[in-house]
Amino acid sequence: MSVEIETELTRNAATAGADGVEDGAAIAPTWRILVVDDDPDVLEATEFALRHTTILGRSLEVVYARSEEEALAAMVRYADVAVAFIDVVMETPDAGLELVRKLRELGYDELRIVLRTGYPGYAPELSVITHYEIDDYRTKDELTRVRLISVLTAAIRAYDQLRTLSRSRQGLQMVIDSSTQLFKRTNMEVFSQGVLAQVGALMRTHSSGFVCVEGRKTTNQVIVSAMGDFAPLIGKEIDALPAEIRSLIAAARQQSEPLFRDGYMVLLFTSESGSKLCAVLQARAGREDADLDLLRVFCTNISIAFENLALTEEMNRLAFTDPIVGIPNASAFEAGLAREIASDGAGKRVAMITLSGFPSTIATYGAQMANRLLREVYGRISELMGAATVTLIGRGTFGVIAPRETLVPDLVTRTFATPYLIDEIEFMPTATTAIVELSDLPEDPVDALRMATTALVHVRQSRPNEVVICGPEMQREMERKQALQIALKQALNSKTGLEVYLQPIVELTSGRVVAAEALSRWRFGGELVSPEEFIPIAEAAGLTRALTGLVLEQIVAWRESGGDGFDAIPVAVNLSMADLNRPGFAAWTLQEIAELGLKPDDIRFEVTEGVAMEDAARAAEEIETLHSAGYRIAMDDFGTGYSSLRQFSLLPIDILKIDRSFVDTLEVHSARRSLAAIILTMTEALGVDCVAEGIETEEQREALLFLGCRLGQGYLFGHPTPIDQFNATFGRQVSI
Ligand code: C2E
Ligand code: CA
Ligand code: CA
Repeated sequence: MSVEIETELTRNAATAGADGVEDGAAIAPTWRILVVDDDPDVLEATEFALRHTTILGRSLEVVYARSEEEALAAMVRYADVAVAFIDVVMETPDAGLELVRKLRELGYDELRIVLRTGYPGYAPELSVITHYEIDDYRTKDELTRVRLISVLTAAIRAYDQLRTLSRSRQGLQMVIDSSTQLFKRTNMEVFSQGVLAQVGALMRTHSSGFVCVEGRKTTNQVIVSAMGDFAPLIGKEIDALPAEIRSLIAAARQQSEPLFRDGYMVLLFTSESGSKLCAVLQARAGREDADLDLLRVFCTNISIAFENLALTEEMNRLAFTDPIVGIPNASAFEAGLAREIASDGAGKRVAMITLSGFPSTIATYGAQMANRLLREVYGRISELMGAATVTLIGRGTFGVIAPRETLVPDLVTRTFATPYLIDEIEFMPTATTAIVELSDLPEDPVDALRMATTALVHVRQSRPNEVVICGPEMQREMERKQALQIALKQALNSKTGLEVYLQPIVELTSGRVVAAEALSRWRFGGELVSPEEFIPIAEAAGLTRALTGLVLEQIVAWRESGGDGFDAIPVAVNLSMADLNRPGFAAWTLQEIAELGLKPDDIRFEVTEGVAMEDAARAAEEIETLHSAGYRIAMDDFGTGYSSLRQFSLLPIDILKIDRSFVDTLEVHSARRSLAAIILTMTEALGVDCVAEGIETEEQREALLFLGCRLGQGYLFGHPTPIDQFNATFGRQVSI
């Protein structure tokens, strides 16, 4: 079949070649249709559907083009193309739209255009209809043969009328201008105003009139725009109109032609989806004076524009409402943000409110009940906030835009202060709320939503169940955190940018290097991000296990590369809180260690006191598993946080590291009265080893020696050093 189309194309081309440009002015015995599509199957199907078809007494002559270029060539060749079916997606996703733009720019105003697309209801493309003068917009599936022919008939009729009227240039120009303008309207009110103005101009009357619209689902007609005597009736139902006007509308419903009676003209349009638009104008002129043909063409064009508008409005309604809960959705929130941002949004705030434990509400009470709760919460927020945009942007999460005065923590708190009663069940939901100034958000609504969401995530992590106003510093912090988190994930995946440094741990008397501590470094961009900053990020993102894995691997590589046996010293690996609170971490680590060929003498682990506090029993279990496999455990940063001796009975501690803050202030003469002295006495009693951290001065070393501390670590002996330079830098001993 595709061969046949090939022939058809060739034949058309051949005809044109022989005859040159055909005379468009001559009355063709056929309607010439241009089908532009790059899919041979569609061409074939269209040809099949249109075969032997006659429209308004004439047969069809179909010309095919498979690209924008071919289509433009065909238009030049045949001056009388009546209707073009254009595929939106061809060489590029918008080649079809580009073609429409070019055709209109080249002045093919009479050509009727029907856009076709393979994808149904693709909302952004609908905006196209409002920008270009397009007669119809259909998905390919929709265009059954009957539909195709009816669409074609309407388009040909419009084309024919435009052609017939081509001598009345002025009027025609007006019709085209007006309908093109009407196509640009995107809301019913503005559209109606346009209709009124255009019809008025067409009838050369500037007196009174109004437009009323009847919705698809309702029967009451509302006056959406009005001028002159009718102006006060805007927003009212047609019942408010005098009886004789109402009877005019009723009469107009009975006929398809414009109605002229009693000094009024009535035009009625019905969209395919059932919405009706009725324009009533005072017209001194009677039917006989009116340029009826012109008016008809105008009506045809308005009908199409109206249909598209009705369709757009319906699509908008569907697109902006959560289909299950029935309240405005994330798109509505984005649209609200866009609106506010466009109108400068001064004095507005955005709140993200998320119900805590919403999934378990669904699990306990079922989705239906949970959705009712959402509706109730929505209702209460809307009521308390007054003129606000309230939307459901995710399961259990609301996005609110409201004036700064209304959107205050107290109001949010009040939303959840009293229980919600649903089917006799009392719900007392708690929520976490992040409030952001609209002016602090990025200009792009999508970015704005992302940023607001990030704020919510941040608050949920740092201050759950609170209402927090997030200022610009918090935002910057969050943004950096987020950027770092993404980059860190990539760094760990690709194992690039993360390096292990070793810092020597020495015997305080001799300076002999007895161990080393592995400290991670991250080179990100040109910056060296401190572990103080990236470890918490890794913890929040669940990346610490990967980090620990990487540290272990680099230690193994270092051990394998060392030749003089110096690398045989044990290396302390820091474990994070997040690691130890995850069940199975120890088992995973032991397996990793076994695969890497590491033994208990090669490494040991440092844990912080905080670890033990978070979920003492779980962490203790994990630590116990490592310990019973033979690995020594050091308690890091001892003396900070919640130090308590109790931890020694809970955890299998072998080494205690005295925090830098106790070493900082040490002086030989007062050493005996220092906190470090107490800690050292204690470790002696418990029989655990002790390492003093952060030794920077000779005086500190001496004070520690005086207190009986054997081991230490600090800049006095050596800074953390890239692992591959460690051996060369420290040899077997550091000079003291
Ligand atoms: P930490 O375990 O207490 O490590 C000691 C910190 O003190 C290191 O900071 C080290 O560079 C610094 N330091 C050593 N000697 C001196 C000194 O004489 N004076 C001063 N002022 N500081 C000294 P760093 O490398 O910035 O690491 C910070 C923290 O990040 C570490 O504290 C550790 O808790 C964590 N960390 C580092 N690497 C890793 C890792 O691979 N995994 C995990 N989970 N945490 C790590
Ligand atoms: Ca440490
Ligand atoms: Ca420490």
